[in-house]
Order: sequence, then C-alpha cells, then structure tokens
Amino acid sequence: MGRQNIYNKLMDAIGNVFGVCGLMANIETESGFKSTNMQNSYEARLGMNDATYTQAVDNGSYANFAIDRVGYGLCQWTSSGRKAGLLAYAKEHGKSIGDEDMQVDYLLHELSTGYKAVLKVLKNATSVKEASDYVCKKYERPADQSEKALANRAKKGEAIYAEFVDGKEDGPMKIYKQGVAVQLAKNFKSTEFDCNGKGCCTQTPISTDLVKVLQQVRDHFGVSVNLNCGYRCPVHNAKVSGASKNSKHMEGIASDIVVKGVHPMRVARFVETLPDFKGRIGVYTWDAKGSGFTHIDVRGTNSRAVYTKNNTDYDNVIKFTVPIKRGAKGKIVTVVERFLASQKYKGEDGKTHKYYEGSIDESCGPKLEAGIIRWNADHGRKNDASWGPKCWNEAFPI
Ligand SMILES: [Zn+2]
Ligand SMILES: [Zn+2]
Repeated sequence: MGRQNIYNKLMDAIGNVFGVCGLMANIETESGFKSTNMQNSYEARLGMNDATYTQAVDNGSYANFAIDRVGYGLCQWTSSGRKAGLLAYAKEHGKSIGDEDMQVDYLLHELSTGYKAVLKVLKNATSVKEASDYVCKKYERPADQSEKALANRAKKGEAIYAEFVDGKEDGPMKIYKQGVAVQLAKNFKSTEFDCNGKGCCTQTPISTDLVKVLQQVRDHFGVSVNLNCGYRCPVHNAKVSGASKNSKHMEGIASDIVVKGVHPMRVARFVETLPDFKGRIGVYTWDAKGSGFTHIDVRGTNSRAVYTKNNTDYDNVIKFTVPIKRGAKGKIVTVVERFLASQKYKGEDGKTHKYYEGSIDESCGPKLEAGIIRWNADHGRKNDASWGPKCWNEAFPI
C-alpha cells in the first residue's frame, strides 16, 4: 500500500517512468497519496473526516457522494459524473470507496476510456514536466493552472523520479521502457534485452552486473555479441518450450548470447576466468563448429552446465576445464568427442585420419583415449592419456 504500490501499478499499465512520475506528481498534489482523503474545506461543513466520510459512503448512510462536489480520493474526483463513476466502480468490484488499488484501477479505467489522449501522452512523454503539465491541464483541471502551479507539480514529479528511478541507480537492477533504446555500455543497448514475446510486457529490467560481463566478453573477443534472449517476462517464459519455471531470464539477470565465430565453450571458459563473476554459465553446443549459444546469468552463486542435445537435457560440471580420462562420462565428454572428431592428422600410413572416429556417446572409451594420447603427443606431451587444461586451451582457447 502507498506510493510504491501506486508506482508499481502505474508502471505496469503505462510503462514509462516520465509519464508515471508526472501522473504521480498530480496525485501527490491532489491527495498526498491518501486514497481516503476528502477535500479539507468540506470536513467542517459536513461534520465528517476522511475516515467517517469513507465509512458513511461504504455503509450507505451517506447517499450524496456523487452529487456533493466534495473532492475525494487519490485524484480528488469532484464532478458528479466522475464521482458517480468511481462509486459504481467500487460497488462493481466489491471494494470500499477508499480502497487504494480500486482507485488506481479506476484512474487507469478513466485514462483508457474518456482520457485516451492523456494516456497517450503518459506513455510517450520524454520528461516529467511534459507529463505532469498535461495531466494537470487535461485530467485534473484544477482552478489554478498558472505556470507557478504547474511548476510546483512538476517539481514533485522530479522528486518522485529521483526516488523511484534514479534512487535505484546504485543497485544492480534498472528498468527500461521496452522499445526505447538506451545505451547501457559501449556495445549494448537496452532494447537488445527486450522480451521476445508479443504484447506481453512493456518494460525491461536489466542487471548492470550482467551488462558489465557482456561488455567484457565483447571487448575480449572483439567481435559482435548477439543476444538470443535477455529479459523474458513471466507470460512469455510460460510459452517458451523448455524454459525453466524459475528462469533467471524473468528477473533480467540472464542472457543467451552468440559471439560471432566463437564456440560457446570458448565464451564460457572466458567468463569463468572473470574474477568478480558469480553466476551460472551454460554451454549449449550442438556441433564442433560452434553452433549453439552460451547462457550467462549473475544469480550470485556459481554453477556450470553443459547441454549437447537440446535445451533441457544437461549435466552440471564443476568447471569447464575438468580433466577427461578413460571411463569419464557425460556431456562434457561429448564436447571433446566432437572436437577430436573434427580434427585431422596424417598417420604413419600417409593417410589423413580423424583424432576420434568413434561414436558421439558421452563416454570416454579406448578410441577416445587413443585420440587424446595422439593429440597430446602431437602437442609435445608424450604418453599422456588425460585431456587436461592444456588440451582445453588448445581446443577452446580464450
Ligand atoms: Zn514479455
Ligand atoms: Zn538462458
């Protein structure tokens, strides 16, 4: 309840911080965000206060609510038409006339019916003042619409902006308007993180910690980084087959990236070396050439996973440079199998062979072991049957 609740509800519906802060500036001016507020000058005349007036309207003992022209509620609804509408709306939804959520819903209902032009300005305003002025002149329409009065309202809106938008700047999460590109880092814009769903959401939360990691990836490899997926709202997430119900994409702290020409395992191994990184890295790799993507999120705890078949079947690994020896099992083995199957050498018979000619079966048997021994020998390491850190570096350099 209160200002944060009102801000959240308005952001959900309007999706533009300037519009919401401009609208809230007017609500604050009218009622101080108190949904049971009755116009002070009438309190003595009617012998009622905020609480008793609200109660009398709710229990039906006061029947003149719609016609008394007493300003009431968050927006200080005054005219008989609008007060009658508010009363009918409260009854229809079984809520008290002073209910905050009901009043915000009624406000949004008014905006989407009789005040469409106001709603349009709120959704597209590029400053708090623009939104605040328009709401004052076209929605609240108080007696005093002087420049000074307009400036006072806008000033309140700027304070709200400073608190709700700028105030969050120090934390890792920031919220952006969908479709409006804001430069987040040298090579990343907010719109790249927008939800891929259609018509399901209007804003995009993005972790600044995540953006930092992605920019480091971009700087390190020096090629474009494409986001297959950044933010995924809960509505869209539910529609994506294979998406986890607890997907971190819904929190704006996750990304699925394709680094041009760079194998997902190389990307993962680089991110793993970042000293401050704490999160989950998922290698989604479908062949030796590098098809697939790398999932990176900054959830705060480290975990690593390898997917080699599809988006849901994975193995957790301790790290991506885990040594592979005969008897090793799992999808990390498949990554090595595919790599060695793609590499060729010239044998003693003068013919070209693949380092691994067995099946891709997530299991290190004698054929893969022989391939590892040959790879090591060809890189100056005699009789070494282990696929260790040096091999990982040669195959998936960072
Ligand atoms: Zn969405
Ligand atoms: Zn992902």
